[in-house]
Amino acid sequence: MSVIKVPEADAAGWRCAACDEPLVMRPVELEYLDSLFNVELPACPRCHHVLIPEALALGKMHQVEQLLEDK
Ligand SMILES: [Zn+2]
Repeated sequence: MSVIKVPEADAAGWRCAACDEPLVMRPVELEYLDSLFNVELPACPRCHHVLIPEALALGKMHQVEQLLEDK
């Protein structure tokens, strides 16, 4: 499965609130529109907390929607 990169998601400048570790981009399994996707998101390397960008939480995943439309 290919990893989707979200332009809205950027690890730069983000730190984990709990660990104060800089977040790193890592593939995360997300369920969206009844399908599973690997999406690259900023995550804490220590506690693996994943930052969900506001655009993602609001369901504005244009790349995912385009993938579904292409099928
Ligand atoms: Zn953490």
